[in-house]
Amino acid sequence: MNFISLRNIDVNGKVVLLRADLNVPTKDGIITDYTRIDRVKKTIDYLRKNGAKTIVMSHFGRPKGKVNKKYSLKFIVPSLSERWECDVAFFDDCLDEQARKNINNGEVRLLENVRFYEGEENNCSDFAKKLAKGADIFVNDAFSAAHRAHASTEAIAHILPSACGFLMEEELNCLNKALENPQKPVAAIVGGAKISTKLDLLNNLVKKVDILVLGGGMANNFIYAQGGNIGNSLCEKEMKDIVIQVIENAKNYKCKIILPIDGVASKEFKENPETFIVKADDIPDDLDRLDIGDKTIDMIKSELADVKTLIWNGPMGAFEMKPFDHGTNELAKFVADKTISGDMISVAGGGDTVAALENAGVSDKFTYISTAGGAFLEWLEGKTLPAVAALIKQ
Ligand code: AMP
Repeated sequence: MNFISLRNIDVNGKVVLLRADLNVPTKDGIITDYTRIDRVKKTIDYLRKNGAKTIVMSHFGRPKGKVNKKYSLKFIVPSLSERWECDVAFFDDCLDEQARKNINNGEVRLLENVRFYEGEENNCSDFAKKLAKGADIFVNDAFSAAHRAHASTEAIAHILPSACGFLMEEELNCLNKALENPQKPVAAIVGGAKISTKLDLLNNLVKKVDILVLGGGMANNFIYAQGGNIGNSLCEKEMKDIVIQVIENAKNYKCKIILPIDGVASKEFKENPETFIVKADDIPDDLDRLDIGDKTIDMIKSELADVKTLIWNGPMGAFEMKPFDHGTNELAKFVADKTISGDMISVAGGGDTVAALENAGVSDKFTYISTAGGAFLEWLEGKTLPAVAALIKQ
């Protein structure tokens, strides 16, 4: 892909404005997951080692264009210093001109939340110019914010010479390998709850993959649309015609759709209830199918036996409640084993997928797990990510 990598530009002595995504999850003011901080470290290390004067900017929460101390990034500074193993000075206004001055080579500074200004979410070029003032280079390492055209991700890339950070580059390369330029045959596993949130994604995938495996509550829509009885299972029945259209699209693009043939069902939506093995298209009226069954698991494994590239979004069942994580866990382990033995490239992400694969104990065994959420899904939907497009255009 045609973007400039950080490693191809000279950053020595330059003021580098680095857009990171430090919108970390918190509970009662405590960070509950450091992934977003840790994943930027490679870029930070490189910039420090190569003598850049690094100024990090990020959003945090949704302050809606107003200063709101609840969304201040100040609390994150000790964690940045600890995880990035360097001092990080904080400036409590992202436009503070002093923040861009008297900075030493190798030094790292953090600016206050860019969303304290309305111009950020409006993608205002005047605001982007103010952000850029005093900086020499813009580096974007916030793939997870790339689906929004905001001043600190999009407009600024038209103002300063711009490059891709290492995390952004890794995401783009992995997604490109999985979807745009994959080793064939390529398959996608799509699960989750609601078909209405996944239509764009399914319609894009049927054009690109050879096999589309459907699971989760979402698969019920396909079984119902083809005349099956799904009992009391999750289904958006009003989507029937649209689902039939997806099936037609798949036929046109020679994409094989694989649906569950059996399942584990229950009368109650709770942990460890009484369960019943059912045929997926003949479920008694009082039962809700909450997972795929063993026959389906075996069938999917044999369908995926020769697949070289796999994309995964969404769990196969209501994985938060045991035993309905079984189908997701079994398939996740199968994909992880194939990945480790070098037979498959596996890329997963979006929604609850990361949590489901963590629950299966395989999140470090896939080729790549994207933590980008919305940006990952929009990529799967075939949409152009504005902040990525701005970098590619350079
Ligand atoms: P998504 O964010 O679209 O990937 O959906 C994830 C949600 O789908 C999880 O909360 C799962 O519990 C839910 N889910 C998956 N399969 C089923 C099912 N068969 N019935 C009800 N909910 C399900």
